[in-house]
Amino acid sequence: MGEKLLLQVEDLHTYFYTLQGVIKAIDGVNLCVREGEILGLVGESGCGKSVTALSILGLVPSPPGRVEGGRILFEGEDLLAKTPAEMRSIRGSRIAMIFQEPMSSLNPVFRIGDQMIEVIKLHKKVSTGSARIQALEMLHEVRMPDPEAVLAKYPFQLSGGMLQRVMIAIALSCEPSLLLADEPTTALDVTVQAQILNLMKDLIRKRNAAVLLITHALGVVAQTCDAVSVMYAGTVVESGSVESIFRSPAHPYTRGLMECIPDPSRKSDKLKIIPGTVPDPVNPPPGCRFHPRCYKATATCSQIRPDPVRVGPGHVVCCHYPEEG
Ligand code: SF4
Repeated sequence: MGEKLLLQVEDLHTYFYTLQGVIKAIDGVNLCVREGEILGLVGESGCGKSVTALSILGLVPSPPGRVEGGRILFEGEDLLAKTPAEMRSIRGSRIAMIFQEPMSSLNPVFRIGDQMIEVIKLHKKVSTGSARIQALEMLHEVRMPDPEAVLAKYPFQLSGGMLQRVMIAIALSCEPSLLLADEPTTALDVTVQAQILNLMKDLIRKRNAAVLLITHALGVVAQTCDAVSVMYAGTVVESGSVESIFRSPAHPYTRGLMECIPDPSRKSDKLKIIPGTVPDPVNPPPGCRFHPRCYKATATCSQIRPDPVRVGPGHVVCCHYPEEG
């Protein structure tokens, strides 16, 4: 992993203008991904993880959505200043994507081979023959059984795990420096999930590329990532190395998420939950957004939004009373 910053998101705000009011889906997100690093962006559904990804990719549906402020620096260039055509050429080449549902990216009426060859030709400007050879090589690399036969198949003829291998092959065929993966294994069986995560990690390490891995599962982060940013209600509340955050989580919400991971060694058979619900994004609570659910909340918490404080090397938390040790 390098020290050089590849992606830097600074004070990002993305809002959706609806009849019910302004949904502040992203309200001051900061995060960074270093070269060769796998960063996990973790949090409950509706916390803004996917909208963060869409903002980075320039794919926020507009209307009703709009990026209202902040900067997104990728390889030193501000993505928010790019034209739609410039973003189209960055997507799929320098930044590749994998989504939870491969069928949303694959066309059901074209064979896998045709779709892979088309993407490779588009981004690498090579002949059909050369693109076909590269497609086969990529299917070998993602350890696809019988790649020749797979090229001739339609998406519906492949299992979920095989489709996700195809998506990884397509994403990496254009040699991106950043892979954005949004819940790539959530729809898969646990055993297939582990295989796909390990495969993705191996291929990424081999290429020295970086990943922003969006997930609701801390277990996936522990298995796959180098660093983690924890999101809550449109903001990042804690970030640091996986080692540091798993050893000493400093934000009460991160602690709560960890206690929700099923642990067979725990005596009680009751699965812990964080009390309360995710706040209304139209009328978020004042002060610290977690205060209605936090067991440590004080009057200060309900009035003043906490600033980031450093609690260890590269470990930052937004809390007035961070946990110690
Ligand atoms: Fe809890 Fe207060 Fe920290 Fe928010 S600032 S997480 S309410 S202790």
